[in-house]
Amino acid sequence: MIPFHTLCPEIAQREVRCIHVLVASGAVSHGGLSAGEYAYVEFYCDDLDCDCRRVFLEVIARHQQDKVLASINYGWEKQSFYRKRLPWPPDAARDIVRGALDPLNQQSEASEELLRIFQRQVLDEKYRLRLRRHHQLFREELRRRGGWKPPT
Ligand SMILES: [Zn+2]
Repeated sequence: MIPFHTLCPEIAQREVRCIHVLVASGAVSHGGLSAGEYAYVEFYCDDLDCDCRRVFLEVIARHQQDKVLASINYGWEKQSFYRKRLPWPPDAARDIVRGALDPLNQQSEASEELLRIFQRQVLDEKYRLRLRRHHQLFREELRRRGGWKPPT
């Protein structure tokens, strides 16, 4: 998975989804999150032969960019699409269309809350279509460059 912004920096900067967390007066945090801005940074699969149609999201706080607070998998197609093609347990297709924490990647004490915010506030039809479009742009750019070559 490659960060969207390495291939499409302008669009990524303009269209990254951010949330602003407010903390009630007297409280230190909201579900483990301190007040501030958090970005849902997109990564897409760099294998042009693969048609997995999903995004991997890392949630990063603007005030602490070296720490991944949550790693989320999400797929914008219908559940049946993932059920058919992925050799996963039956729940996996349902989880990916709702958004789910990635079992293999970095999480934190705030990851459950960031997933809840993703499901309730970030994810709507507009965002679903935006991710689908970003994935198409990512692949077009990747194809134009003849595949992914890490910077040397
Ligand atoms: Zn893939």
